[in-house]
Amino acid sequence: MNKNKNILTDKFSRQHTYLRISLTERCNLRCTYCMPENGVPLSPKSHLMTYEEIYSIAKTFVDNGITKIRLTGGEPLVRKDFTVILKKLATLPVELSITTNAVIIDRFIDDLKTYGVKNINVSLDSLNKEKFTHITRRNNFDKVYNNILKLINEGFNIKLNAVLMKDFNEDEIVDFIKFTKNLPISVRFIEFMPFDGNKWDKSKMISYAEVMQYAEAEFTQNDILRLQDAPNDTSKNYKINGYKGSFAIISSVTNPFCDSCNRLRLTANGQLKNCLFSAEESDLLTTLRQGNSIEPVIKKAIEAKFKIRGGMDTLKKLEKPQLHTKNRSMITIGG
Ligand code: SAM
Ligand code: SF4
Repeated sequence: MNKNKNILTDKFSRQHTYLRISLTERCNLRCTYCMPENGVPLSPKSHLMTYEEIYSIAKTFVDNGITKIRLTGGEPLVRKDFTVILKKLATLPVELSITTNAVIIDRFIDDLKTYGVKNINVSLDSLNKEKFTHITRRNNFDKVYNNILKLINEGFNIKLNAVLMKDFNEDEIVDFIKFTKNLPISVRFIEFMPFDGNKWDKSKMISYAEVMQYAEAEFTQNDILRLQDAPNDTSKNYKINGYKGSFAIISSVTNPFCDSCNRLRLTANGQLKNCLFSAEESDLLTTLRQGNSIEPVIKKAIEAKFKIRGGMDTLKKLEKPQLHTKNRSMITIGG
């Protein structure tokens, strides 16, 4: 890393070491909280990064201090050249991980092992087949459930991501926690966040405080152990005494963790987002295609990063549709 440049440090002294790359805007599920009912306009193929361009942009970031890259989407595994991308990125000195819905991940287990992916985040919003079908608008529960067990057996570190929504899966919070009794996984409850087209409303959200109320109603205070969070962790981590796994809450809405943010996001069409909630984007792909260095564009983007949630520093601001609908739909950001 060229420490003199330090282009990944922002004006609040946050050093960015983690890049999330979205490989595609497409998905084999249609989660209601992520994708608008009628889908999103997809970028023409010529506007999407090729695998060479992904590698080239990723390398620039790694040269400047990125140590961790997570592949996401849409669903990253539906991209035809997923394995080619993985193989190229595995040549960089970086920890590679993936966020997936796990519908087809059984086809990639050998590739993931070959190219050093150990940490896999899988989305699973319900342990109930009918509810899963309702929220994802697809009938893939058995595949996903069996694939999760397969991944655990194959020795991957698994985190399950469950977006909590009122009157949908809040009654499963305790079931999810009990799911960690015999499985070495971390279930992460995610507060439902507002993005363009997902009909967000604060009243549909289950907060960090509410998750803890459900946990405390079922388990004694002595049995709920607060774990040490990792540096730059976005989640507050807990464990039930004696359980193999753990649970956590990602509270971007009620308790943002922006102070320790080390994340940057690259969309499938090559736009750098300096914050999940920021509507502003910086066009790295066009700059690259013009044959120019992307470093000045990255530097400017980092300098412009707001202290909290893309400038929506209060819940009042986050709630305003005219502010959060300026951002993309989550399906085209990647979480
Ligand atoms: N398809 C992959 C998956 O589902 O894991 C990767 C992409 S998905 C956009 C990444 C993560 O974003 C998932 O864990 C999903 O649950 C989460 N997500 C999507 N929309 C969200 C929202 N409105 N609020 C909170 N989390 C959301
Ligand atoms: Fe697809 Fe993941 Fe969005 Fe669900 S959350 S629609 S699986 S990208």
